[in-house]
Amino acid sequence: MVRNIALVGIGKIARDQHVPAIADSNDWQLAATVSRAGTVDGVPAFTDLAAMLATNPDIDTVSLCLPPVPRFDYAEEALNAGRHVMLEKPPGATLAEVHRLHDLAASRGLTLFATWHSRMAAGVAQAREWLADRTVTKCHITWKEDVRHWHPGQDWVFEPGGMGVFDPGSNALSIMTHILPEPVHVREATLIFPENRFTPIAAQVQWSGNVSGDFDWRQTGAQTWDIDVETNRGTLKIAEGGAVLFIDGVKQDVGPNREYPALYERMADLVARGKSDVDLAPMVHIADALTLGRRVWTEPFNF
Ligand code: NAP
Repeated sequence: MVRNIALVGIGKIARDQHVPAIADSNDWQLAATVSRAGTVDGVPAFTDLAAMLATNPDIDTVSLCLPPVPRFDYAEEALNAGRHVMLEKPPGATLAEVHRLHDLAASRGLTLFATWHSRMAAGVAQAREWLADRTVTKCHITWKEDVRHWHPGQDWVFEPGGMGVFDPGSNALSIMTHILPEPVHVREATLIFPENRFTPIAAQVQWSGNVSGDFDWRQTGAQTWDIDVETNRGTLKIAEGGAVLFIDGVKQDVGPNREYPALYERMADLVARGKSDVDLAPMVHIADALTLGRRVWTEPFNF
């Protein structure tokens, strides 16, 4: 069965990933967009969510690609209008608002899917399986990328609720919380804020269980999205954001990386089964690091 879906917030990630994933999907047809400025060729375009919902009763699912702060109002409106909702990561600006959406979806018998695209990366399922019966003795996250490349001119990442370097860092945390066999909690953090910004451009985090992380948005040249794990029976390395997996130094055959197609397959399955998938574990670590972290100021940052 092919379902009609609307995409809201036609910006970088909608164009880069959502539109192509839906176009290649056997489950979904892109039936409308809602965006103040963005459109997709050949797809009916709206600038107002309420107008789209009112005039398209055949669209039963809405996928929200907006930044986290404006996303809640759109999600609440879509759920109140009886639509299933898919949220980009991180699923909200606060934990409480996502709990609220989860409760609203449950009370209306609708699906809410808080997506974590990096969990769908090719090497992640195998990493989780390999680690399941091992004892982790050390784990280190190195997540270093160039904010100017990945968020060109997107000032919202440095506004309150934009989460700064924890926006991409949430990808690492979504993998970490999925593959580690035991839960961990933040013990200390150092947060590095540009003098002219409200969110950190870099952070170092120490968790329980000898787990640590180094997140930096100032890396030019080669980008690093690695997680190195030592266990009582061998080592594991996740590289390239989860697309590549090494076990005891040997590169594994994990197949093609198809994160967004896999998210849309999962959404179709959740809707068909009347289920939701809302895991806030990665966001808990961000909230805790921001609560507990020592703040350090660095030079101003401008795009
Ligand atoms: P973006 O291009 O800056 O924003 C997406 C669209 O949201 C914009 O084009 C804008 O469309 C709409 N929007 C922005 N602010 C708004 C507001 N205050 N009210 C209403 N609409 C607003 O951001 P993005 O890079 O696509 O990121 C969006 C989400 O995807 C974030 O949560 C991000 O973490 C996630 N994500 C991004 C990437 C990446 O590489 N950039 C990768 C994976 C996931 P209109 O102006 O046309 O309304």
